[in-house]
Amino acid sequence: MSESQRVARRPIRVLPPALASRIAAGEVIERPASVVKELIENAIDAAARSIRLEITEAGFGRIQVIDDGIGIPPDELPLACERHATSKLLDDDLRCIQTLGFRGEALPSIAAVAELTLLSATAESRIGRRLTLRNGTIVRDEPVAHPPGTTVIVKHLFANVPVRLAAAKQKHVEAAQIVQTVRRLAIAAPHIRFTVLLDGRHVLQTSGSGDLVTVMSEVYGLPPESLQSIETVEFAEAKITGVIADPSITRPGRSHLHILVNERWTQPRGVLNTIEAAYRPLLPRGRHPILALALTLPPEQVDVNIHPAKLEVRLHHESQIAKIAAEVIRTTLGRKARTFQLAAAAVTDPLVSHTQVAEDQPSYDNRLVVTPNLPPLHILGQVQHRLILAEGPDGLYLIDQHRAHERVLYERLKAATHDAPDTLVELAEPMILELTPSQAAKLSNWLDALAALGFHCETFGRHTFLLRTTPYLPGVVTEARHAGGFPAVGQRDALIPALLEAIDDVAAEDSESWRDRLSIRLACRTAVRRGQPLDLPGLCALVQALGETSTPAVCPHGSPILLRIDGQALARQFNW
Ligand code: ADP
Ligand code: MG
Repeated sequence: MSESQRVARRPIRVLPPALASRIAAGEVIERPASVVKELIENAIDAAARSIRLEITEAGFGRIQVIDDGIGIPPDELPLACERHATSKLLDDDLRCIQTLGFRGEALPSIAAVAELTLLSATAESRIGRRLTLRNGTIVRDEPVAHPPGTTVIVKHLFANVPVRLAAAKQKHVEAAQIVQTVRRLAIAAPHIRFTVLLDGRHVLQTSGSGDLVTVMSEVYGLPPESLQSIETVEFAEAKITGVIADPSITRPGRSHLHILVNERWTQPRGVLNTIEAAYRPLLPRGRHPILALALTLPPEQVDVNIHPAKLEVRLHHESQIAKIAAEVIRTTLGRKARTFQLAAAAVTDPLVSHTQVAEDQPSYDNRLVVTPNLPPLHILGQVQHRLILAEGPDGLYLIDQHRAHERVLYERLKAATHDAPDTLVELAEPMILELTPSQAAKLSNWLDALAALGFHCETFGRHTFLLRTTPYLPGVVTEARHAGGFPAVGQRDALIPALLEAIDDVAAEDSESWRDRLSIRLACRTAVRRGQPLDLPGLCALVQALGETSTPAVCPHGSPILLRIDGQALARQFNW
């Protein structure tokens, strides 16, 4: 085609209505899962207590949604299928939307790309009405007996839109999309009982209990005790609550992070990013938690009208909300020990009381370690010169001595600063750094940065420096006022080599991530080794310091520090 031909101008025309609505429908109805989403949202908006979804052939055969909601009065049924017809906007105010739908586009869009049948009755109407539309026009209309509520049946989806049909993925992919869509809606509406059948097979069932922990356990098939409520935070007019799965249960993608804003499932990217940054150091690389976070905000602070499929919302004060949410998640995750399951299935045995296990034990008062962020632990001893064995109110604890110390040192290194003298130690005898010329050159540029982190170095000859202060590193670098019973268990000799490596590593990147890597490296090198025998004061001091860190369950590399063998698992294994 030549350039002149391509720009050849044709007259402007208004598209015939059927074509125009098929094009418009594409924005709302992309695939079978979009039909499911719109129909279930309508049922939720209609205050249904129970929603039943039956699908055949991944939605290309038949999609049927039955609800027991308020229904549509017979005389309004034809109107429901018209473009921009909605009962959900009382006045013309788009600012305070409290329903999932509000644009009046779903039913006409579905009718443009499929055969749509609606059956509905209200509590007032003694008889219901059935309406079938093909290509957007009514082909069948008759009275029908129907309990209060609505049934919607969609057939021949995309039969008249070959491009959509061609773009459809394999059936199992579309079916998986449908299941994921319903999961999200079910989590966002825990008070509704959902039943889902794919080709006659039950794939999802929730109880409608109204409880977030229950619905998460039903949707994911997890035992409720592997899910933990996160602490509820209220501030200004907002409220944050949620549920998070045990850190040992992770997923490779972010799609199991459910953010509910005023009972609407969404993915506010800013919130996701901030939350991810918070759990990143606590979970293995590339893994994500199973999590539901429910935000309750004044409706005027949520803008839902920004995405065609209403998948995104805009939150006023998003970054503030995200930060608070991230903080509660971090605390919840960081304090939870990974539960070591002796048996594959963790079935609760209500007859075994946790506290009973603790009370029956003889007390070892001089071995009891009480800290803010761990349960009270009786230190029993050391195993294989690498694990600390302790007993808590909810089971036996195994603590990796190296990682525990690493966590303690890492937090000290991150907290140290030259303007808080009590985070620092003035070395009675300075340590000497003998450097190569290039190391010396690098170090000279970083003297101020290092000093700000608590490592105060002075030049001493051409390529030699004196280290005069370091951050307070319990068990590695201490002075009299700190000694407080923390024996020197760590690798003090490793401090200088690790510092030199860190200086070699200085690149032109931002100092915050350099500081983090420096802290991880120093903590790892100087922490007590596995294989080193420790006496009781050493064991107690380590556990004491660990319980005072913010996240005692996970080391700076993201590996577990603690394993818990719970009393129930033992009872089961021993057949008590
Ligand atoms: P919207 O949900 O944006 O209002 P829809 O096209 O999805 O637009 O639905 C149009 C109208 O039909 C709704 O406003 C509602 O009054 C009615 N409606 C649709 N589905 C149901 C249902 N399951 N129960 C009761 N009313 C419904
Ligand atoms: Mg709708």
